[in-house]
Amino acid sequence: MNQPQIAQSFQELDLYDVNDLLTEEERMVRDMVRRFVDDEVLPVIEEHHRAGSFPTEKLRTMGQLGLFGPSLKGYGCPGLSNISYGLAMQELERGDSGFRSAASVQGSLVMWPIYTYGSEEQKNRYLPKLASGELIGCFGLTEPDYGSDPGGMVTRAERTSDGWVLRGAKMWITNSPIADLAIVWAKVRGDQGDSIRGFIVESDVAGYSAPEMKNKWSLRASLTGELVFDECKLPADALLPGSPSNLKGPLSCLTQARYGISWGVLGSAQACFDSALRYTLEREQFGGPIARFQMVQKKLAEMAVDITKAQMLAWRLGRLKDAGTMTPTQVSVAKLNNVGVALDIARLSREMHGAMGILDEYPIMRHMMNLESVKTYEGTNDIHTLAIGRHLTGISAFS
Ligand SMILES: Cc1cc2nc3c(=O)[nH]c(=O)nc-3n(C[C@H](O)[C@H](O)[C@H](O)COP(=O)(O)OP(=O)(O)OC[C@H]3O[C@@H](n4cnc5c(N)ncnc54)[C@H](O)[C@@H]3O)c2cc1C
Repeated sequence: MNQPQIAQSFQELDLYDVNDLLTEEERMVRDMVRRFVDDEVLPVIEEHHRAGSFPTEKLRTMGQLGLFGPSLKGYGCPGLSNISYGLAMQELERGDSGFRSAASVQGSLVMWPIYTYGSEEQKNRYLPKLASGELIGCFGLTEPDYGSDPGGMVTRAERTSDGWVLRGAKMWITNSPIADLAIVWAKVRGDQGDSIRGFIVESDVAGYSAPEMKNKWSLRASLTGELVFDECKLPADALLPGSPSNLKGPLSCLTQARYGISWGVLGSAQACFDSALRYTLEREQFGGPIARFQMVQKKLAEMAVDITKAQMLAWRLGRLKDAGTMTPTQVSVAKLNNVGVALDIARLSREMHGAMGILDEYPIMRHMMNLESVKTYEGTNDIHTLAIGRHLTGISAFS
């Protein structure tokens, strides 16, 4: 009897013919980033994960591939659809959440605010070099005492006769140790009380430092650090002139990055599914492959169904974003669901590999550990749940 042809990966399986929902350009972008990940990320990722380092030399290649700010138009950016952007994040995170984090921060949290709130001079000065990876940026919102509640921030920018003085500190800042510039959110005192504004802070300004935070168990192949502003004197044009005077500024950037995360985690989930599928077909116990047991098939089926549902959410969100109607609540739904799905799949996949699942010969525990950070940053699951709850009831349960 002929054996049925078995798909070797989730993408080959394509349970719901998602490929058919994509344009030619979107498929091309996905395949290009997939090749980059296969050729340049997967061969080195375990060694960087072990060492707690990031291959910074890949950032220029990522820039050349258009992975920084892919859906922005002009200023050296490719102007692709948001689905292309999402697929690029999915493929990067299939490699490692650290690569996707680097691209999310650069594109959504650094380039997007300059693109949206910056002056023409700021856009011309920074965006082409950020797009190419010649400059690397970071985004400073979180502080030691203010994480989920960033409105309480204590970092302040004070107006002087010829510019600003910045005082305060940020923590948990992705890429800060290597950043050439930081988008920093700070309180500014005015006649109407305090406002929150965005600033472009170049890393060579006196009083600026960005010590690395070491010994993470998660996102080990991603650089995380503090930002310390000790009486930093900034020029008058460091302010992002169009940034709203409240939390809407930083939160609007987070909406962009959370969109990318909703896609990115599909990549981690697929990597964990692929490994489970291969392993259970090869591993033999009780006289045959463990994939023949109903309980193993139930787990594989649940994973495939969950990834497919998550793909549908991400795809629909992308089309809404392209149409300009995507709302922060819709992004919360996708981030909350898709990160949860990816984490569940990583845990299930680890279980299905038995003891082998704890080895770094398999990518599973690396993805599982990474996803713990992804669940926490850009709004924890609790915070997204509260955002959806507020939308449903009209009542804020945040405080
Ligand atoms: C690897 C990594 C990279 C990061 N990169 C960046 C970056 O580049 N830039 C940046 O600005 N920040 C970054 N962050 C910070 C991240 O955004 C914060 O960690 C996140 O917002 C949560 O804040 P917190 O860690 O202070 O947790 P807390 O706010 O102290 O929360 C602790 C717990 O309390 C819960 N909680 C809080 N408030 C409520 C509530 N109202 N109701 C119910 N539960 C609640 C939370 O859900 C969580 O479970 C990064 C974090 C990590 C781990």
